[in-house]
Amino acid sequence: MTTIKLKGDKPLIISGPCSAETKEQTLDTCRQLAATGMVDVLRAGIWKPRTKPGMFEGVGVKGLAWLERAKEETGLPISVEVATAKHVENALEFGVDMLWIGARTTVSPFAVQEVADALRGNKDVTVCIKNPMNPDIALWAGAVERFNKVGIDLDRIGLIHRGFSHVGHNKYRNPPMWHLVFEMRSKFPDMAMICDPSHIAGAREYLQEIAQTAADLRYDGLIIESHNCPAVAKSDAAQQVTPDDLVKLLKSIKWRTSNNNDPEYTRALSNLRAEIDQIDSELFELLSKRMRVAEHIGAVKRENNVAILQGDRWNSIVDKAIAQSKELGLSEDFLKTVLQAIHIESINRQNEIMNAK
Ligand code: PEP
Ligand code: MN
Repeated sequence: MTTIKLKGDKPLIISGPCSAETKEQTLDTCRQLAATGMVDVLRAGIWKPRTKPGMFEGVGVKGLAWLERAKEETGLPISVEVATAKHVENALEFGVDMLWIGARTTVSPFAVQEVADALRGNKDVTVCIKNPMNPDIALWAGAVERFNKVGIDLDRIGLIHRGFSHVGHNKYRNPPMWHLVFEMRSKFPDMAMICDPSHIAGAREYLQEIAQTAADLRYDGLIIESHNCPAVAKSDAAQQVTPDDLVKLLKSIKWRTSNNNDPEYTRALSNLRAEIDQIDSELFELLSKRMRVAEHIGAVKRENNVAILQGDRWNSIVDKAIAQSKELGLSEDFLKTVLQAIHIESINRQNEIMNAK
């Protein structure tokens, strides 16, 4: 079994099909990926957790033999998703080097514990843990602890950021919520953080921008789904790329250096940071002022026995903000998110006033 260096001098690149579908598709894709010289680890889903029954649920154990063959031919380590003790047993029999825990598994402590128990005493496999579907960092951290407790050292554990499920419209299939991942990174500062632009994006056209953001935020690697013929893929067709397109994508990404001691740069940066700190403090003062006005409104409504929530008023605030967002060069989604947070806090304040004894 190959030991995978999760945090190396250069970003770790993991690629391969969403699902192993046939021997030809798996081997052809993996051979092309290896020939690029840009891929460090091959991936393929063997057991697929699907939202609805009757969708393509993976080829099962026979796919492991195809991957084992791909590893023999290319010399590259292989990785698969596991969700049960049986999956672990099968994957290890076929010399799988890296296991990953899918987002639908990380949400379930029983399932995570079962997989962890199946790895008790294992000394060489690498385990990557995807963030849970829901934006719950404690659950993600809990999964890391479960694997660490059965004896998987922290340097054999990696994290995969694949975005979070959401309600309502969003450009991405699973919005990244980068700020939440910062929290996870500060809990495990030395652990590799790998970005999965494919499952964040849900569509090929957005892979590049997400991967570039990950590079800008100094992630340690990328896992990107690729297929020898994405158009006919049995799962996640819209987000997979051909090995050729993967090369174009990877070449387009600028990885940033971790630090730069140039005094000119340090001075420029600290000036800009001071400016940001000042603006933040002004923003908070304004917010506090706004909340005091909301409290006054609460008092006036209380006197007149009027309900807090006035639908028309709220709609007109949102419309005005959207119109202004264009002038200000702020995205509509961003302004709506900010406004919603402010609105919730205003309602809470008014509520307190209205119900004060
Ligand atoms: C996958 O990587 O193919 C997969 C199913 O991902 P996730 O668990 O992130 O949905
Ligand atoms: Mn997929």
